[in-house]
Amino acid sequence: MKKIIIKVGTGVLTRESDGQLDGASLVKLVTAIADISDQGYQVVLVSSGAVGAGISGLGLKEYPADVPTRQACAAVGQTRLMHAYENLFRNFGVSVAQLLLTADDFNDAERSSRVRDTLAKLSEMGNIIPIINENDSVAVEEISVGDNDMLSSRVATLLDADMLVLMSTIDGLISPETNEVVREIENIDSVLNYARADRGKFSIGGMATKLQAVKRTVDAGIDTVIMNGTRPYRLAAVVAGDGVCSRFKTQ
Ligand code: GLU
Repeated sequence: MKKIIIKVGTGVLTRESDGQLDGASLVKLVTAIADISDQGYQVVLVSSGAVGAGISGLGLKEYPADVPTRQACAAVGQTRLMHAYENLFRNFGVSVAQLLLTADDFNDAERSSRVRDTLAKLSEMGNIIPIINENDSVAVEEISVGDNDMLSSRVATLLDADMLVLMSTIDGLISPETNEVVREIENIDSVLNYARADRGKFSIGGMATKLQAVKRTVDAGIDTVIMNGTRPYRLAAVVAGDGVCSRFKTQ
């Protein structure tokens, strides 16, 4: 069974206008994930959106500058997020399981093997989609993995996944020459060099940290793609090796 780790960003899950969870976007996403799960892929979802959902849930107007308020937002938003996923996946006869992790869960061999065992058991039980997020209510600075691109990379390597799919609000890396998605990237280092030198071969606005996570994953021998999470109907084609996305080859 092919193991696919899918990371979905806050931009896909929440509405830009008011920061609320975007119900329409979630329906499309869950439908696409349930579809590939039904096809026999083993899926683990790494979902952001807790802080975003908590901000609107607590009636705040903007992203909180201080850590305790962000942690409170995550605590409120995480339950909303899981509630939404649980209700939607139920339509497909699929259960969800929540794992909230910190960097320690990866750095400590004993703890990481427990995480692996839990995920293996869930997979064996069948019809369960594990949904992972950083444990934002406790993970700050030194015990934080950082961002969810990196978290999903660490999950992918921990599980020795077949593919990591990063779902963002863009179709992939865009070539400014053709204005089209760069479908295959043979060498992640060349992209990172362009990014550093700002030579404009690829538009990577806001993607520098994402590309670091891509590099880490590709270097570990796991195929990685960036695709548009607002068009999740492409997922089935993407995991089958086709579809609109940027595909980073392992070396
Ligand atoms: N864990 C954060 C959240 O759920 C998101 C972090 C990230 O997207 O990088 O809101």
